[in-house]
Amino acid sequence: MLLDAPRRPLRLADAPTPEPGPGQILIQVNACGVCRTDLHVADGDLPDPKLPLVPGHEIVGTVAALGTGVSRFRAGDRVGVPWLGWTDGTCRYCRSGRENLCDEARFTGYDIDGGYAELTVADERFCFPLPEGYPDLQAAPLLCAGLIGYRALRMTGDAERLGIYGFGAAAHIITQVALHEGRRVFAFTRADDEESQSFARELGAEWAGDSMGPGPEELDAAIIFAPAGQLVPAALKATAKGGVVVCAGIHMSDIPSFSYDLLWGERVVRSVANLTREDGERFLALAPQVPVRTQVEAFDLENADAALERLRTGHIRGSAVILPGRPEEGTSK
Ligand SMILES: [Zn+2]
Ligand SMILES: [Zn+2]
Repeated sequence: MLLDAPRRPLRLADAPTPEPGPGQILIQVNACGVCRTDLHVADGDLPDPKLPLVPGHEIVGTVAALGTGVSRFRAGDRVGVPWLGWTDGTCRYCRSGRENLCDEARFTGYDIDGGYAELTVADERFCFPLPEGYPDLQAAPLLCAGLIGYRALRMTGDAERLGIYGFGAAAHIITQVALHEGRRVFAFTRADDEESQSFARELGAEWAGDSMGPGPEELDAAIIFAPAGQLVPAALKATAKGGVVVCAGIHMSDIPSFSYDLLWGERVVRSVANLTREDGERFLALAPQVPVRTQVEAFDLENADAALERLRTGHIRGSAVILPGRPEEGTSK
């Protein structure tokens, strides 16, 4: 499925089999998660994507062929491909353990063709072996919603009372991890979004309610997954002194101005950008211990636009996942 230009529907196309270059692997895609970032790329919220582009950066697949010099994987291995697709390894960020901030980083399904396809290639150094016990469909959302959600959770330190704003794919995974770590979870959604609120309670949130109001008690930290800038002052208002508000999305509407009183008391507002390979290794080791269980809604490859539209309108419970196998192998939707 190709994005020819932002704000245009994806187009089903026949493309030649990609050739794995040195250090790259050719992957038969078994499943590819749909991330909110894919929506931001398709909607033109993020600048200068590769065009035409195969979106998708939560890829679960099987190694089909090896480029020269590949040493980590063999044909037939199951691999995961995340958002971080390449870094230069030489800039000041890469040299200080912050490759997520690399000036020259290239991202899967943005600068590099991704997983809304039957075949893709990836740099083996940025792929992950995946934990056994997760079928392909259930493993896909771990690769961005899980990894970047986990990085955001780490940024909250040891906060006990955790507010989660926006209850989509990342929230449904990170709630499980947070509870496993002994935290208490409060879910903030649109006031009338009873479906998301009941989903959050089912997953163990002790309260779910209106994101613009206060919770039942103060928060020690908040993570904002929804791309709505007005949530930043709302989350600050709900957070206790010394607490952090983590903005975990790649794109957000403008943050309205707010009184300094909301920040005063050593409150912190910060963003989380991308992931490091270390985040991935740590989270993929932790997920089966929790154990994180992902809830997914499956779509055939040619229905990728329908998956994006359901995500855009807030109708996905958990994660949407695309199954590029032939239709008779996949799940129709
Ligand atoms: Zn770098
Ligand atoms: Zn993502």
